[in-house]
Amino acid sequence: MARELFTSAQVENDRAALRKLSSLPTIIFMKQVHGAQVLLVGSKSEQDQVCDGLVTTEKNLGLAVASADCLPILLHSDGVVGAAHAGRKGVVNGVISKTVEKMRAAGAGEIVASIGPAICGNCYEVSPDMYEELRNSRVGLDGGTNHLDIAKSAKAELLDLKVEVFHYEICTKENANYYSFRRDGTSLRQFGVISL
Ligand SMILES: [Zn+2]
Repeated sequence: MARELFTSAQVENDRAALRKLSSLPTIIFMKQVHGAQVLLVGSKSEQDQVCDGLVTTEKNLGLAVASADCLPILLHSDGVVGAAHAGRKGVVNGVISKTVEKMRAAGAGEIVASIGPAICGNCYEVSPDMYEELRNSRVGLDGGTNHLDIAKSAKAELLDLKVEVFHYEICTKENANYYSFRRDGTSLRQFGVISL
C-alpha cells in the first residue's frame, strides 16, 4: 500500500524535516515549471528534477510536489506511484494525463489519485481576457464568471482516464494552515509526498 502525506505549514521548505516527517531516506523534488514533463525516477536519480510530474516503481522513494494554490496530485497503484503539480498552465498543458500515461507505461493497474489542498473555484479569479482564452481548454470555467475551478477540471480529466479520485476539498486561500500565493504572495510552499 502506498503512503501519502500532505504537510501543513510547519515543514516550510525544510527538506530534512520532510524526510523525518515522512520517514523516507530519499525524496525526489521537482523544479516545477508549469509544463507537462513527467519523469520516471529511481533511487539513483538526481534528487532535483526539472519537471511537473514524477513516477517511480521503487519502494521507499518519496516523490514530492510543492504547491501554494496549484493542485498537488498524488497517485498510487500496485507497484507504481506518481506525483503531479498542476496549476492552470499545467492542466492546460496536460500534465495530469501525461502522469497517468507514464504510470500505466510503468505497469500501473487501477490508479487512485488524491487531490490535495489548492485554491478553490470561488477564490480563483482571473481576468476576463484569460477566462475567454481558456474557454476551449481543459480548465473548467464553472467556478463562476471569471473564476477557474482547476480541481473540478482535474477531477473530470482523471475520471475520463478511469482513475478513481479522492479530493480533500481544502482551499489554500481560505485555510490559514496552508500557504497561498494568492492570499500572501508567499514563496513558501507545502508539500505532498508519496511513496511505495
Ligand atoms: Zn477558496
